[in-house]
Amino acid sequence: MDCSQGYPGSLEIEHSASIYWTLVNAEIGQLAQQVIARCRKLATFSEDSGSLRRTFLSPPMRDVHREFATWLQPLGTMLQIDAAGNLRALYAAVEPAAPRLLIGSHLDTVPNAGAFDGILGVVLAIALLEGLNGRRLPYAIEIVGFSDEEGVRFATPFLGSRALVGRFDDDLLDRQDSQGISVRKAIQHFGLSPEKIGDAVLGDDVCAYLEFHIEQGPVLESLALPLGVVDAVAGQSRLEFKFSGRANHAGTTPMNMRFDALAGAAEWITAVERAARISPGLVATVGTVQARPGAVNVIAEEARLSLDVRHPSDDIRMRAVEDLIGDAQAIARRRGLTVSWKEHMNQRAVQMAPEVITRIEEAIRKSGCKSHRMASGAGHDAMILAEKVPSGIVFLRTPGGISHDPAESVLVDDVAKAIECGVHLLEHFAVSSAFQKRTCRA
Ligand SMILES: [Zn+2]
Repeated sequence: MDCSQGYPGSLEIEHSASIYWTLVNAEIGQLAQQVIARCRKLATFSEDSGSLRRTFLSPPMRDVHREFATWLQPLGTMLQIDAAGNLRALYAAVEPAAPRLLIGSHLDTVPNAGAFDGILGVVLAIALLEGLNGRRLPYAIEIVGFSDEEGVRFATPFLGSRALVGRFDDDLLDRQDSQGISVRKAIQHFGLSPEKIGDAVLGDDVCAYLEFHIEQGPVLESLALPLGVVDAVAGQSRLEFKFSGRANHAGTTPMNMRFDALAGAAEWITAVERAARISPGLVATVGTVQARPGAVNVIAEEARLSLDVRHPSDDIRMRAVEDLIGDAQAIARRRGLTVSWKEHMNQRAVQMAPEVITRIEEAIRKSGCKSHRMASGAGHDAMILAEKVPSGIVFLRTPGGISHDPAESVLVDDVAKAIECGVHLLEHFAVSSAFQKRTCRA
C-alpha cells in the first residue's frame, strides 16, 4: 500500500491481533481527525492571549489536565498528577502483576508555539486506548504527559521526565524562575507536594517507553515519508568564543594595519558552516554575535560568538569541536588577533534501544510505509527515559519542517499512519513473550 494513497480495506494485523483490535481504516481516519482537533483545542489553553505559551505548572496547564481527564476517564484509566506535575493515566492489564508500557510526550510549550510539538504524542496515545474499545492487554499502558520538556520557565529542560528517572534533586527544587519563584514553590502553588517527588520514579514493572513526536525538521517531507524512527538523539556541544583585536578609527586606519576582531569572527563563522557541510550528520551553528564597542565608525575590538555543534556520534562531534577551535586559532593568528573559548555544554548522544527501533521499523512497514532511520537533532523526553527503560521515538512528517511556530502542522493522513503504526506496536508487545518476561529488575 502506498502511503500517499488513502486507507483501502481494513487494517491488517497479523494472527492474534483480532483479539484486541477490530479497527477499520475509516475508524483510524476518524481517530486521526479527532487527535488533530484535540491538539487544536488544547492549543487554546495559554498563558498569553493571541499566542500559545504554556510553561511548567502555569494556570493553563491545569485546564489541559482537566481536558485530558474528560477524555481519559471514560476509558477506565486511573488518572493522577504526580508531584512533578506530570499527568499519569494508567490503563490496567488483564492481570494485576503485568509489565507496563509507557507512552507519552510533553504538555508544555515554547512561547509562540504551534499546536502539536509534544502534546500530539499524548493525545495520540489516548487514540490508541480508544482503539482498544475497552479490551485489556497482557500488559498495562501508562500514558504520561510531561509537565516540562522545553525548560522555558526555569531555564532548564526535562523537569517532568527527570522526576521519572529519579534525577529531581534539591538543587532543581531551589531553582528560580524570572519572578523569583522556586520550582518547589511552583509545585506547592499548583497544589502538589514537592516532598513526594520520589513517588514519581518509575517502578521496575516498566518495560519500555514509546514517544510519538513531530520531526520538527524537513527530512521526512523531503523523502515523501509520513513516519520515521529515531535511532539516536544527537549529542550537543555549546561553546562561547571571544576574538580580541584592537579598536581604532574606521576612517583613518588603513586596511592593512587593522586588527579587526569582527572580521576575524566573520571568517571563522563561514569556516564553521563549511566544516559542517562536508561532514555527514554534523550540524554546527553560530547563533549569536556581539561586537564591542559596537559603533558604526569604530573597528571592533572584541567579538563574542556562540557555537552549537550536534552529531549522533560523540566522537565525531568532539573531533569537530576540536577542529573548529583549531580553525579559530589559525584565523586569529593570521590576523594578529587572539581567541579564547569556554565550554558551556557537552551533552552526550543518547541511543534509542535497538530492539525498540526494530519493532518500530516493523510497525511502520506493516502500516504500509517505508521506514527511515534518523537521528534527532532536538532533545526529547525519550532521551531521559532511556536512562532507565528501553525507549523509542516515532517521528511524524512536519509540513514545511516548521515547528516552534504557530504555523506548525501535521497531516491527518500521517496521524492516521502513526495510529496504525502504534496499533502494530501494541500488538507486537501483546504477543511478544520477550516483552512479557522482561522487567527492569533484570
Ligand atoms: Zn517537543
